[in-house]
Amino acid sequence: MKTIGIIGGGQLGMMLAGEAHRLGARTVALDPAPDAPAFALCDEHIVAAYDDREALEELCRRSDVVSYEFENVPGEVLVPLTEKYNIPQGFRPLYDSQDRLREKTNAREHGLQTPAFAAVDDEGSLRAAVREIGYPCVLKTRTLGYDGHGQAVLRSEADLEGALPLLAVPCILEQFIRFDCEVSIVMVRGRDGRTIRFPVGRNIHRDGILDLCIVPAAVPAETLGRLEEASERFMAACGYTGILAIEYFVRGGEFFFNEMAPRPHNSGHYTIEGCTTNQFREWARYLLGEELETPRLKAPTVMKNILGQDLAAAGEIAREAGKAGEETGVFVHLYGKSVSKPRRKMGHITFTPLTGGEYDARWRARFVK
Ligand code: AMP
Repeated sequence: MKTIGIIGGGQLGMMLAGEAHRLGARTVALDPAPDAPAFALCDEHIVAAYDDREALEELCRRSDVVSYEFENVPGEVLVPLTEKYNIPQGFRPLYDSQDRLREKTNAREHGLQTPAFAAVDDEGSLRAAVREIGYPCVLKTRTLGYDGHGQAVLRSEADLEGALPLLAVPCILEQFIRFDCEVSIVMVRGRDGRTIRFPVGRNIHRDGILDLCIVPAAVPAETLGRLEEASERFMAACGYTGILAIEYFVRGGEFFFNEMAPRPHNSGHYTIEGCTTNQFREWARYLLGEELETPRLKAPTVMKNILGQDLAAAGEIAREAGKAGEETGVFVHLYGKSVSKPRRKMGHITFTPLTGGEYDARWRARFVK
């Protein structure tokens, strides 16, 4: 029986562990939090910091293959391990995504269109970048930003002053894209180069955090086809294998790379019930060296993220679905996090079959506005 080692014990690790078990594999996760969600499902776990070399080495020794679900594993510790152990995704896709400047430069160099961008380190370079890119634009910290943290939209000169505190660390200034919608794609590329793609989802954010993912994405088929082909070509051109999620802004027939992550994506959770195979199962198959299965959308699907403020409503919906039996098409996933906070991802609900319009009519009012 093979053991998959997972650096990170969040909900992504938890869902990987579930699929690994279904494929007959064991899992061991490493996370600094003693109550990390994945620990409840993993066969073994290690409580340690992400830069604890000894502990990471121990994780690798206990595993046949190792991957990561946490994005900020430092290269100084991961690179030496990739030379000694079976970490097939390697450090490269993490390295390329850990810094927004590097990430967008890499995307552009490998064939994807990005918003105009420039490196910004101080007020002088910010003013120069604004002159070049124009308003509106977005100032973001280059590292450690997520879910809208560490960024400010600049609509005019009046917003400059308020954004200056961000410049305590290196930043990037980006053109603000007046997009029609945001979408994401999850792909898994096998070690033999064969790539599978999950259907593109349309993402709706609330306060910078993913709120809904609606599939199909309601983007013209021709644009979607080009986006899918470009994403697959990008992955091959970069030489990545394993799992990769890319987020784009879509405007007219154009799409602009926003960011990527070499791990399963929140927007891909809909695949668990919405597709014939899901992002966690195919990631596990890749890690176990098994043949990948091409996914197909079973029916229109909507995924709703459950943040701390939505937890009570999610509990009620779970009870109703439980009473109604199996055919409700409502699948509630709670991650077992011990502390609930507003804006913290506590779970998600997948509704399938359901369209975006049907979600608005039947479910939207149940959640906190
Ligand atoms: P990010 O953390 O870079 O994904 O940004 C969070 C959210 O801010 C995105 O999902 C968009 O809704 C918005 N956003 C970020 N960058 C831009 C941009 N260049 N143009 C328009 N909207 C943006």
